[in-house]
Amino acid sequence: MTGSGETGVVGRFAPSPTGAMHLGNARTALLAWLHSRARGGRHLLRFEDLDTGRVRPWAYDLTRRDLEWLGLDWDEEITQSRRLELYRDAAARLETYPCTCTRREIRDAIHASAGAPHGEEPVYPGTCREAPRNPDRPAALRWRIPAAQVCAHDALSGRTLCQDLCAEVGDLVLRRNDGVYAYHLAVVVDDAASGVTDVLRGEDLWTATPRQVALQGALGLPTPRYLHVPLMTGYRGERLAKRGGAPPLSALREAGESAARIRAELARSLGWPVPDEVSVSELLPLWVAEWARVEGVRPCR
Ligand code: GLU
Repeated sequence: MTGSGETGVVGRFAPSPTGAMHLGNARTALLAWLHSRARGGRHLLRFEDLDTGRVRPWAYDLTRRDLEWLGLDWDEEITQSRRLELYRDAAARLETYPCTCTRREIRDAIHASAGAPHGEEPVYPGTCREAPRNPDRPAALRWRIPAAQVCAHDALSGRTLCQDLCAEVGDLVLRRNDGVYAYHLAVVVDDAASGVTDVLRGEDLWTATPRQVALQGALGLPTPRYLHVPLMTGYRGERLAKRGGAPPLSALREAGESAARIRAELARSLGWPVPDEVSVSELLPLWVAEWARVEGVRPCR
């Protein structure tokens, strides 16, 4: 099934090849594919492999095989580690400064300031903004975040999240001190370079969306439509994780499980009424109906 792009929708599934896909990754992959294909759009597979220390070389091929087994196809494959010059060029267009602070120095500065961390992640207090502290150390590159409120919208749930990134996040690292470009920069550059119109991904990335919207604004890139889908949980309600022992999809496949049954299990976990075995084409109208319901109830903005 090749996307004709007749509706102009371009979607993507963007796994990190750091391990074997589990059912939770498979559900997000399935939904991203359904969303791209439901209206004849293009669908991309993008390997987010910038953090080379975490990459497992065998995971690329296993991911491709898992997706094919599930009946999901893609029109183009993109590998972030081959596109470093794009991220370098984008970072060069932003107002940045080298940061050589250690984590400890940042932590101490946070504790010493009135604004102790109140959220989940510590706010970078701008320790290196004016002058790099340890010029001999390898420097990370931080983006001097403009002082403004930035809002992200989720088309699936109708939520809007506004953040004052200066106060709530602090200057973002665009390149770590080991030279690895940051996920937020790469994702924004790649989505725009590929003409991605619709980003369907896991709920865990929702709260990071305003910083991606801010980067899009600063780089003059369009903001795609965002759809965040719930993460699949295990029997005890825990989030499935590649490193947390969730059974790999490949193990289910090798144990003789059928893709039709796994698709049905994934669809049922979303509350969709499906028989015990289901094909991807049978799932397409269910996503169309779900999406129509979402679009239908969307309040005016
Ligand atoms: N690479 C990210 C992950 O595997 C997904 C990033 C995205 O979809 O924007 O969780």
